Amino acid sequence: MNYEVVIGLEIHAQLSTKSKIFCGCSTEFGSSANSHVCHVCSAQPGALPVLNEKALEFAIKAGLALNCSINTYSEFARKNYFYPDLPKGYQISQSDYPVCGSGFVNVEDDQGQLKKIRIHHIHMEEDAGKNIHQGMHSYINLNRAGVPLIEIVTEPDMRSATEAVNFLKKVHTALTFCEVCNGNMQEGNLRCDVNLSLRPKGSNQLNTRVEIKNINSFKFVEEAIEYESSRQEKIYDEGGTILQETRMYDADNGETYSLRSKEDAHDYRYFPDPDLPAVQISDSYIQKLKSQL
Ligand code: ADP
Ligand code: MG
Ligand code: ZN
Repeated sequence: MNYEVVIGLEIHAQLSTKSKIFCGCSTEFGSSANSHVCHVCSAQPGALPVLNEKALEFAIKAGLALNCSINTYSEFARKNYFYPDLPKGYQISQSDYPVCGSGFVNVEDDQGQLKKIRIHHIHMEEDAGKNIHQGMHSYINLNRAGVPLIEIVTEPDMRSATEAVNFLKKVHTALTFCEVCNGNMQEGNLRCDVNLSLRPKGSNQLNTRVEIKNINSFKFVEEAIEYESSRQEKIYDEGGTILQETRMYDADNGETYSLRSKEDAHDYRYFPDPDLPAVQISDSYIQKLKSQL
């Protein structure tokens, strides 16, 4: 192979709090549809979010476990997009001021050598609800809406499926050991987006990447990377160009397929959420959490 694979991961982990991130609704999995919904997480006019302190605590612990710097000042931001499972018309997330800054994890590469994979940052956000399509009807279940998540964003430092899977496994181990995430991948409590591009061996440039969304098993991460690398290789070999797009992995067929062309960040019109004050934490609070790890 004349190409080098370049991979960056975005990992979503559900924080194991009993209640949602901005309201008192339960986060219990598998309850009957819309049984954990209130005026806040169903976006009734005038309803105001209040940050769940436990979620903040778990996000900081996750950052400490992954060698991240912790920001004593962070802000929530609105990520605007229209989709039926997002009742407010925006997701409360973090953008310019995330709770955790850069970090790293050492993972084994294909030769069994330890290699440092850098984390760009970790931010907090709320999960969306779920659309369910049955025959002629579509339904919306808001039990997940407002469930606390962290998103761990890596630098594009991984060069093979092995490195990506080993990284994900280390993150899984760290988060479950610290008891900030239960790690149940079938239930979607840890899932990851794989960003992947190819470049000629020896080159330092970053080529157009494809994002493969929401993969919820180590095996599927490996399979999706293998498939997508050869798909892109074939396109380049035939003189074609890669489109920046979002793809899904179909585990039954072992293939990725196109979902939509990828939005750039500015399409989300991020701005600071005026309903939530900035989060300011002290060094002693961080030290206290560190001592509990
Ligand atoms: P977004 O997905 O919101 O547009 P970023 O542009 O910051 O966010 O990138 C998200 C992820 O994609 C990061 O994990 C990053 O390392 C990875 N990434 C960025 N450029 C490339 C590339 N050319 N090839 C592979 N991965 C990339
Ligand atoms: Mg992304
Ligand atoms: Zn609620």
